[in-house]
Amino acid sequence: MSQPNDLPNDQQPPEPKGDEVPVGSPQSAPGICPECGGSGRIAERPCPTCGGSGTINVLVGDA
Ligand SMILES: [Zn+2]
Repeated sequence: MSQPNDLPNDQQPPEPKGDEVPVGSPQSAPGICPECGGSGRIAERPCPTCGGSGTINVLVGDA
């Protein structure tokens, strides 16, 4: 029974916001090319949709 009892109130560290915001502008999001499924190739040929990169930049909110 020799513990000092002069501890201040429990200082809880500020909790970070739980909502993780995706990197990038909200109106554009990188997505996997639906044509090649992200492989960038279709039938051993460069996917014309994504240009062989496998990913496309989808613009959203551009109504
Ligand atoms: Zn593609």
